[in-house]
Amino acid sequence: MENFSLIIPAAGRGARIGGPIPKPFIEIGGKTILEHTLSRFTGAEGLQQIIIATSGEWVERVQAMEERLTEGIPFHVAEGGEERQSSVKNALSEVLDAVDLVVVHDAVRPFVSLDILIRCLNAAAEYGAAISGIPVKDTIKRIGDGGYVVETPDRHELIQAQTPQVFSKRVLRDAFHHASLNDFIGTDDASLVEFAGGGVKVVRGAEENFKITWPSDLAMARKLLTDGF
Ligand code: C5P
Repeated sequence: MENFSLIIPAAGRGARIGGPIPKPFIEIGGKTILEHTLSRFTGAEGLQQIIIATSGEWVERVQAMEERLTEGIPFHVAEGGEERQSSVKNALSEVLDAVDLVVVHDAVRPFVSLDILIRCLNAAAEYGAAISGIPVKDTIKRIGDGGYVVETPDRHELIQAQTPQVFSKRVLRDAFHHASLNDFIGTDDASLVEFAGGGVKVVRGAEENFKITWPSDLAMARKLLTDGF
């Protein structure tokens, strides 16, 4: 398996779920969601480094994970930013010189599988950038002022982008540089590569690799992590 550094942005405030605790630090079965997510990667062959972006009072909490979870793999805590993009940017500056592939994975997707990771790594090694995605189920509408529909894109051309998203370090660093020169803000990392004109290969993700976003997602995650999945 390819060698890689793992970046986990975990500095979101979780406005859509509400409550005082940011999503990655909500506990399920005695472990935080971030720890559940991290444990999906720690046994992966090729993992050279773990970088977690977080901020404020959560930094110490993340540092404490090093001993318990990382099995001696080099571990760094990067400063979280206002936007997800700035959290990843800070983490990117910590990537080891010797590592070429960078995996970015949301802290709040604890159901990622090794199969998906391997598909993304292999595709990124070949194409420079690869993301996991699933077909969209619903018809998607673009809406404009006043809530009127402006456009209905053909559903067969759409996917729902997930993480892992995997990049050659050079491709990702160049894309972040280009984005900051042009004040571009994207909601995932691949969109920065696209904005810089780079190609991004899509590989098959999984419905169960959902992002814990809404209270109903959290309820589902609790059920799956408690009863097994
Ligand atoms: O906000 P969104 O659902 O896109 O968050 C995806 C991931 O990015 C989460 O793991 C969240 O903690 C992280 N994030 C971050 N810094 C931010 C916003 C989100 O690390 N400023």
